[in-house]
Amino acid sequence: MNTIASDRYQDIRDAVRDLCSEFPDEYHRQIDAQRAYPEAFVDALTRAGWLAALIPQEYGGSGLGLAEASVIMEEINRAGGNAGACHGQMYNMGTLLRHGSEAQKAHYLPRIASGEWRLQSMGVTEPTTGTDTTKIKTTAVKRGDRYVVNGQKVWISRVQHSDWMILLARTTPLPEVAKKSEGLSIFMVDLRQAEKSGMTVRPIANMVNHETNELFFENLEIPEENLIGQEGQGFRYILDGLNAERTLIAAECIGDGYWFSDRITRYARDRQVFGRPIGQNQGVQFPIAEAFIEVEAANLMRWRACELFDAGQPMGKEANMAKYLAAKASWEAANVCLQYHGGFGFACEYNVERKFRETRLYQVAPISTNLILSYVAEHVLGLPRSF
Ligand SMILES: Cc1cc2nc3c(=O)[nH]c(=O)nc-3n(C[C@H](O)[C@H](O)[C@H](O)COP(=O)(O)OP(=O)(O)OC[C@H]3O[C@@H](n4cnc5c(N)ncnc54)[C@H](O)[C@@H]3O)c2cc1C
Repeated sequence: MNTIASDRYQDIRDAVRDLCSEFPDEYHRQIDAQRAYPEAFVDALTRAGWLAALIPQEYGGSGLGLAEASVIMEEINRAGGNAGACHGQMYNMGTLLRHGSEAQKAHYLPRIASGEWRLQSMGVTEPTTGTDTTKIKTTAVKRGDRYVVNGQKVWISRVQHSDWMILLARTTPLPEVAKKSEGLSIFMVDLRQAEKSGMTVRPIANMVNHETNELFFENLEIPEENLIGQEGQGFRYILDGLNAERTLIAAECIGDGYWFSDRITRYARDRQVFGRPIGQNQGVQFPIAEAFIEVEAANLMRWRACELFDAGQPMGKEANMAKYLAAKASWEAANVCLQYHGGFGFACEYNVERKFRETRLYQVAPISTNLILSYVAEHVLGLPRSF
């Protein structure tokens, strides 16, 4: 398919496509049916160095930019896979890179780059506070050379397939801080150790094959050297990483959007009803064309976000808008793809229903569409704050 992105980063695209071709539709379909983790696929991506794209070369990564990293994520989804199994590795380490001490970076990053350790998890969301993150109730109280963590998280992904998690907890009670965004801190949590000493993991069965969990903390002790950056500044550190995360998710949605466009175009050319290909009917052609146009338009915003990020420029507006447009476009493309596959769209064998479920997630997580609209309304257009 000839797309806006076709001629950019072709060497990376070819290499990732080569790797992905070893994991065809049947592989992803079986993993989905078994509700399993795509271990072999994630291992192959790690061994090839793709998940260490954003780690600087001095720490064993390839030191690439967000544009290249986004191409890797896009190609995984475009090939029929789901980067949701491993995208945490791409952006979680950015928090460590930007705010960790030299000693922490030297300790963690080379091991993450080599694949010895996975840093796939980030624990922010809580059941009783939802999107209102500054109200989280999980606490980390300093006792001697340790922090003692108590509380609960929900929807924390890839915990069972990661070695480390970045955890957000309140270190100063809300009534004692001048601003509600202060008094929150982030920590590196050794997940296997934590499971033995104060953290309980309860998997959440869900609509997609996305390993996600409830976490319960009861006097979990974290060594003080696992605090990242300054105590009390964790909320700001998490926010710092969100623009890269949103842009990468946008790229995944773009990958999905092209996958849906490609599949439905082929199907509509081949499927004969009333003695002609269904794609000859304009009632079928137009929605397919419309969905494709929207994916291409969203893609332009994704490139703009990457360009600004890689130039070190502010890009909150573009990252949010790219995520919004891409999630919406991939969902429209998913609908069209399902609709014009007719009954076959519902057959697992065609992979459409699986990708349809997977791409739907991105209008809710990692940030919901309404919260992006709220950001644009208030921070870009200057409308009054609503919360
Ligand atoms: C599969 C999956 C994986 C996830 N992985 C992780 C993870 O690894 N780590 C993590 O920390 N979190 C994770 N999450 C959580 C995810 O980030 C949240 O679900 C998401 O941010 C929405 O929060 P919530 O579910 O609490 O919704 P709520 O905050 O309860 O909101 C519910 C709905 O109401 C809307 N809403 C709420 N307040 C307003 C308002 N003021 N104005 C307009 N609309 C509003 C929201 O947009 C949303 O649609 C995951 C979620 C899912 C489903």
